[in-house]
Amino acid sequence: MPHVEIPDIPREASVEIDAKAAALVVVDMQHDFAHPDGALYGPEAERAAPVIARLIARAREAGARIVYTQDWHGDDDPEFAIWGEHARAGTWGAEIVEALRPQGGDEVVRKLRYDAFYGTALDHRLRVLGVCELVVVGTVANICVLHTAGSAGLRHYQIVVPADAIAALTPFDHAAALRQVTFLYGGRVTTSDGVRFV
Ligand code: ZN
Repeated sequence: MPHVEIPDIPREASVEIDAKAAALVVVDMQHDFAHPDGALYGPEAERAAPVIARLIARAREAGARIVYTQDWHGDDDPEFAIWGEHARAGTWGAEIVEALRPQGGDEVVRKLRYDAFYGTALDHRLRVLGVCELVVVGTVANICVLHTAGSAGLRHYQIVVPADAIAALTPFDHAAALRQVTFLYGGRVTTSDGVRFV
């Protein structure tokens, strides 16, 4: 294998977000991904949970919308051939972890594929709510986070990704996700503390 260098990924110390026109999108923080007993547990997702909890609290206080995505598969989902069974509709594994439980008024989007816009009402809901900027956090960084952030970028939402609030399986995957967010979709990368709701 050739040695691969990670290109420079632009990062900003802070990014101001107009809370009234923004949503914090919490991707797939479900037992199967973020709990040690989950089918596809990744330790980084568990690490990111308290970081995301603090962001949720700040977003709520500022009046931003909170949108949760939930991977949600029926019997014989073709994705099971790639990953094995996970996030089966209605099971414990598909539940959002206790520390990040949605509250009344939050949006919860049950998604079929990596991309939370695919086959769901997410785009419609965001437009109805007047949301044009998305802060995308959660797991897995280069899979459902990236596909959802990318799909948002393709729909002309502004996207912001706090690097410490996304969870990857490897450092390479983490860097690859941020590279695509910035280079391909024109998104901005900062830290969770750098997200400033105004
Ligand atoms: Zn899945």
